[in-house]
Amino acid sequence: MALRRVPERCPTCGKEETLLRISMLVGEERLMFTVCGFCEWRIWETGAGTVPLDTVLRQVTRKDGRA
Ligand SMILES: [Zn+2]
Repeated sequence: MALRRVPERCPTCGKEETLLRISMLVGEERLMFTVCGFCEWRIWETGAGTVPLDTVLRQVTRKDGRA
């Protein structure tokens, strides 16, 4: 799991350099989680684009169930 600071502006609070991005593998899929340390705005992304948290949780649960 890799964590790094993102030099982008938060789309919600407009602060710069408050975004942290975490990359992880869930099953065989790479997920990127970006969170703002100031307002707690957050987003999940895969290679295919942004995904709702519900979808992420369902994926994680399903993969864990199989393993
Ligand atoms: Zn923010």
